Amino acid sequence: MKSIKETSNTLFVLLKKHTPLLIVTHENPDGDAIGAVFGLKAFLNYHSLSSTVLLNTSLPLAYENLISKEEYENLANPGDLSEYKGIVVLDSANISRTVLKEFTSSSKNTAIFNIDHHVSNDLFGDYNWVEPWWSSTCEGLVRLLKGEQVLPKETAKLFLMGILTDTGYLTFSAAGPDTLEIVTHLFKIGASISEIHRAVKENMNKNQLKLWGYAIYNCQYEDEYGIIWSAIPNQVYSTLQVKEGDSEGLVEFFRRYRNCRLALLFREVEPSKLRVSLRSKGEVDVNTLASIWGGGGHPRAAGFTVSGEVSTVLNEILNIIKGKIGVWNH
Ligand code: AMP
Ligand code: MN
Ligand code: MN
Repeated sequence: MKSIKETSNTLFVLLKKHTPLLIVTHENPDGDAIGAVFGLKAFLNYHSLSSTVLLNTSLPLAYENLISKEEYENLANPGDLSEYKGIVVLDSANISRTVLKEFTSSSKNTAIFNIDHHVSNDLFGDYNWVEPWWSSTCEGLVRLLKGEQVLPKETAKLFLMGILTDTGYLTFSAAGPDTLEIVTHLFKIGASISEIHRAVKENMNKNQLKLWGYAIYNCQYEDEYGIIWSAIPNQVYSTLQVKEGDSEGLVEFFRRYRNCRLALLFREVEPSKLRVSLRSKGEVDVNTLASIWGGGGHPRAAGFTVSGEVSTVLNEILNIIKGKIGVWNH
């Protein structure tokens, strides 16, 4: 493992040398992960380079209309991967959050390409393009690929989707002038913000609306600390037949509360398995908070997973967080 960052723009040349390629991303992929994986696949197809996408889950509802099941393999355990000369890992801070889990580049004759924007990325690849200043992995991919070679329209659309979903449709502070330049570039190729918004955001089904309603109706405020939080028990997921990824965007909703300094969403995605999402509106660094429980992410958006009974674990986590951030003097 090299554990150093690549600075040169040689991605395309390196990918060409390492076909056939496997493309993977983090578990429970979000819009950036999905946009990156399928945008890169469309790019490689266009340039006649062979690649396969491997996921360990079906796609969240919002993306089902955009990407057909034939576009990817859905396997929990990938088995032997020696047929691939290169593995591209996108939008994932570490290998343990991907289907590869135990796989290490030194144990196989396969090069790992790590392309990501998480500040907590541990540079697990043989080649690492990791830039926390990118708003999204999709923004990074545009920067790395937009040299000599053509970005096809399908790729532009999917990369724009990743940028938009990771930046709250360009409303988060991570979307600065550099991001807007990339967005303009993609727009000129034919990608449209309004079309992506309609396809992804304005596409909830009834049960998803009920899931959001449940979480919003049952939210709790701790104004002294500027915390707003909500918890969704596993029974709600099973009754409504929604998946973990179907609550993407929900924790961001709680940022709307005027006294929100920190928003937390606890989701019991499996019995006794709690996914915690953290969003900060400013000075609280949630990447550092998430690292207490082995998670990570970005300064204003991070997550982690813990096991245990929701009722006890939840209060324990809240108390530790309150101790770390202190009361809110605003
Ligand atoms: P989420 O709350 O799941 O939407 O995640 C927010 C951000 O934190 C995303 O960029 C995730 O990729 C990242 N993240 C979530 N969980 C983890 C984890 N266990 N380790 C590292 N990064 C994470
Ligand atoms: Mn992601
Ligand atoms: Mn991302």
